[in-house]
Amino acid sequence: MKIAKIIVDVPSMQTDKPFSYVVPEALETLVAIGMRVHVPFGRGNRLMQGFIVGFESQELVENQGNRLQDLKVIAEVLDFEPVLNAEQLALADKMRETVFAYKISILKAMLPNLLNSSYDKVLTALDPQVASDYFENADEIHFSSLDEVMQATMMKLQREGKVSVRYVAQSKETIKTKKVVSLTNHAQLLALTISARAKKKLAMQTFLQHEPEGKVWDNTELVALFSRDVVKFFIGNGVLTLSDVEVSRSQDYFENIETDTQKTLNAEQKAAYEAIITSQDKPFLLEGVTGSGKTEVYLQVIAHVIDAGKTAIMLVPEISLTPMMTSRFIARFGENVAIMHSGLSDGEKYDEWRKIAAGKAKVVVGARSAIFVPLANIGAIIIDEEHETSYKQDSNPRYHARDIALLRAQYHGAALVLGSATPSLETRARAQQGVYQLLRLTQRANQAAQIPEVRLLDMRKHLNDKSASFSQVMLDKIAEKVSKKEQVVLMLNRRGYSSFIMCRDCGFVPECPNCDISLTLHMDTKTLNCHYCGHTQGIPYTCPNCQSNKIRYYGSGTQKVEEELQELMPEARILRMDVDTTKKKGAHERILSSFGAGQADILLGTQMIAKGLDFPNVTLVGVINADTALNLPDFRASERTFQLLTQVAGRAGRAEKSGEVLIQTFNPDHYAIKLAQTHDYEQFYQTEMAFRRKLAYPPYYFTVQLVISHKNEEITVKKSYEILSLLQAHLTDKARVLGPIAKPIARTHNLYHYQLLIKYRFEDHLADALNDVLDLTQLRENKELRVMIDSEPQNF
Ligand code: ADP
Ligand code: ZN
Ligand code: ZN
Repeated sequence: MKIAKIIVDVPSMQTDKPFSYVVPEALETLVAIGMRVHVPFGRGNRLMQGFIVGFESQELVENQGNRLQDLKVIAEVLDFEPVLNAEQLALADKMRETVFAYKISILKAMLPNLLNSSYDKVLTALDPQVASDYFENADEIHFSSLDEVMQATMMKLQREGKVSVRYVAQSKETIKTKKVVSLTNHAQLLALTISARAKKKLAMQTFLQHEPEGKVWDNTELVALFSRDVVKFFIGNGVLTLSDVEVSRSQDYFENIETDTQKTLNAEQKAAYEAIITSQDKPFLLEGVTGSGKTEVYLQVIAHVIDAGKTAIMLVPEISLTPMMTSRFIARFGENVAIMHSGLSDGEKYDEWRKIAAGKAKVVVGARSAIFVPLANIGAIIIDEEHETSYKQDSNPRYHARDIALLRAQYHGAALVLGSATPSLETRARAQQGVYQLLRLTQRANQAAQIPEVRLLDMRKHLNDKSASFSQVMLDKIAEKVSKKEQVVLMLNRRGYSSFIMCRDCGFVPECPNCDISLTLHMDTKTLNCHYCGHTQGIPYTCPNCQSNKIRYYGSGTQKVEEELQELMPEARILRMDVDTTKKKGAHERILSSFGAGQADILLGTQMIAKGLDFPNVTLVGVINADTALNLPDFRASERTFQLLTQVAGRAGRAEKSGEVLIQTFNPDHYAIKLAQTHDYEQFYQTEMAFRRKLAYPPYYFTVQLVISHKNEEITVKKSYEILSLLQAHLTDKARVLGPIAKPIARTHNLYHYQLLIKYRFEDHLADALNDVLDLTQLRENKELRVMIDSEPQNF
């Protein structure tokens, strides 16, 4: 009898303890660690997914007081080959020590989504004999499950190369289509009379007049340029025709890629490159101003690694995974590249994952979760924009990609490179102490491109009666650039941050019924939305509080600013990029490529426009409100502000034309803003470190945040104190526990939230303390209690 140790995915009862199951006899010699199984669990014997993490002897089982005949049998072995390899399983053990989440959530995080959901097995006969013996002469056959004898037979055939297996999602994967509009009736277009007041319609008419009949656009592209209603108007008039075309997304990336040649590295780049390829003693911090050629260094390091017969992982923030970035890699490395992109469907991600697991990819370019790909023989791991918060997962398991990268680099003896123009203070402090090796690029790589001039506009002195969002200086500058046919990027910090409605008579502002937060106004859907729980409701005509009908719209979300700007500059073609316009798959890419192709004068967006854009014709970057991030109740507020302003300023003057940056602010004397103006990272680092030291914040101290949530506020408080004493019982006086205090937004999703913060420099008992807290949440009486443990939290 063969007995497997299995970690079972039971949502209601999480534990790291493996359970013992008997392996079906036919499969005894075929099962292996790292395979997934279905096992009967609990009294009801419901089938649950689990992972085989080991095998154990009969004696051991009996010694633990279990009777062999009581053991249940594995219902189905799901995999033909392990989906997790030895490195990944060891990594999961290591992660468990620092990320306080159950092992099962860690194992699942390492797999593509498809393998954690329901799917069919597709068996393909690679041998005609197999097709006739087992598949009734079909090439392919679908199974939702296989019995043990058939499974064993197929596993053997697969090992002989006569059968291959893959999975397809059970939720039917629909064919992906996109809506396109084509210009089908030019004569009709010219015949239309449009009122002079309908500025957007007129603008679109003019735009279309210059286009040939038969031209095709993505619908979203035109909608972003002229609004949905205006596009509908032209469809309704028979000028444009709307239709669906099929798209294959992963293929998109490999099309229309211009060939790209290796650049000759300048002296600083060369020094960095040489250091990275010669020594793997410690990780590298590649600190280089925007446009200094960091990416070129990454590309050449990867080329070197591939030449040496090894592989590389290139992590970029999700938002930078645009065709612009990925195409630079594909242009150099062609079919050797696998891309892990959130825009891919589960099936497509699984295909990329299989390509990697099969050893067919040499370079993986992807966002955070790509750090787990089963790539063998890794020679380099590179994390671009290492300061980005998106590298930290904000649900379980709450890992930081940087930490995982370090473990994997150690395992493979690979070089680890962290790149940024504005490194996180944690990373920079480590470089300062010699834990990382600091490499610097101080010049823009493109000789002609100069670091842009940055001006601060003190909004206390530049109030403008004509505009709520723009100073006159900013407006004049935008107009000047547009008239010169140059392009402008405008950033509004945070999406719709203050679009809300208020009763003019009683001051009533509608709040979310589940969360202590006012609802955000969305003009495109004409709804009030909660950004925390997703609640939506209609806009009331009369005040629910005083019945007055003086409901007014307030604030300057991106939509509002767009309207205002369009009003002031009817001629200008504005593209808006924010969470609302990029909800649809691929919309983000389409907006950027449309801007890149010169189809708009102004790109207006939230911080998502700050990263990675490289448009040579952009000569003005305007920041509409530099201050919003400063006001957040988060000790990293200044760091975030400095990083964001530096990033966005880096979008200007990337080529021959020199760039200008205008920053509107009410705090022109704040060091984060002043030092962003002079691109002075070093000074910022010094100033901010002094502040962190004084207040005992990271990187001087480590932090762990615990958030305790329950639907009853009294219980939340009581449990918070219970957890506090549990922590104090373990921790030495080298650690401090602050709280409990209510979270800044004290209630969301109908749950109250209280927070405890542990600050420490060295604390041997931290793991014990936190594991005890985890155990506490498993008690039956605490069923409705939620405790979130976040080590080194990125958001407060
Ligand atoms: P970063 O990643 O630091 O923002 P990039 O690698 O994107 O910088 O480089 C900025 C621009 O300079 C790109 O257009 C790139 O092609 C160009 N570039 C980079 N290195 C060189 C070089 N050694 N010689 C000429 N141009 C370069
Ligand atoms: Zn009212
Ligand atoms: Zn809500």
